Amino acid sequence: MENDVQIDAELRDWIAKANKLVVFSGAGMSAESNVPTFRDAISGLWANFNPQELASAEGFIKDPSRSWEWYQWRRELVRKAEPNAGHLAVAQFQRENPGKLRVVTQNVDDLHERAGSSEVLHLHGELFADRWFGPCAQSELLQPRCDVSVAVAGSPPYCGECGNPLRPKVVWFGEEMPKDEWAQAQRAAKNCDLMLVVGTSGHVWPAAQLPHLAKARGARMVVLNPEESELDEMADRVVRGTAAKLLPKWLGKR
Ligand code: NAD
Repeated sequence: MENDVQIDAELRDWIAKANKLVVFSGAGMSAESNVPTFRDAISGLWANFNPQELASAEGFIKDPSRSWEWYQWRRELVRKAEPNAGHLAVAQFQRENPGKLRVVTQNVDDLHERAGSSEVLHLHGELFADRWFGPCAQSELLQPRCDVSVAVAGSPPYCGECGNPLRPKVVWFGEEMPKDEWAQAQRAAKNCDLMLVVGTSGHVWPAAQLPHLAKARGARMVVLNPEESELDEMADRVVRGTAAKLLPKWLGKR
């Protein structure tokens, strides 16, 4: 049986030989920055709520203030968080190996960017951006059209002209991913020769299709997760560990 040192050496070798690498990250990537995964987020204040209720159009319509306040709470939590050693190792590798590694993330936080990663593809939107919930009822009449920066304060803020509420610019359950990001992510998956799947349970589709695309084109695929994930079976390597502990070992300067 291989020991941890041998596994780390093998991973470093695969990374060194790869021409195109994708780091496909999920909520576990930010867990060691104290940003809870969905499973962990539903604790404390929010213990009685279902994420599908808080993060869906149906839930927002039912109780806009509750959904908005949950996002305000998450924004505050992420503002206080710092990128961890995993985010930093990925960003440093990109600086040392320009053009070799692309980050595709399901995370809505900005920790990859704050670590210094560039051109991060956010498949599920961004926590700190807002958009109108619906189309403006008066958009043809208003000069200028409603602008999110002039929303009237409230929970949620709303358009003073038509009452349209603001919502976070994230992809909720049942919504489509942004087309351009998804197309770029698919291209990156098809063109890579190594994909590191970090901190994702693999049960949010269609994002979880990316490792399948990479494998179908002959890429190697590695799962890094302290627990079982739905992508384990098809991986060339499953490593039980955490992002902050292992990514610096694998991606660090050689
Ligand atoms: P998930 O919550 O379904 O799964 C998280 C995975 O991370 C689990 O498999 C868990 O075992 C693993 N994990 C926990 N700690 C880890 C660590 N230290 N290192 C490596 N792995 C670790 O997350 P998901 O697969 O990303 O899907 C959930 C959806 O929730 C996503 O669409 C995402 O947009 C959203 N979400 C985002 C954030 C964020 O932006 N930080 C946080 C919570 C949820």
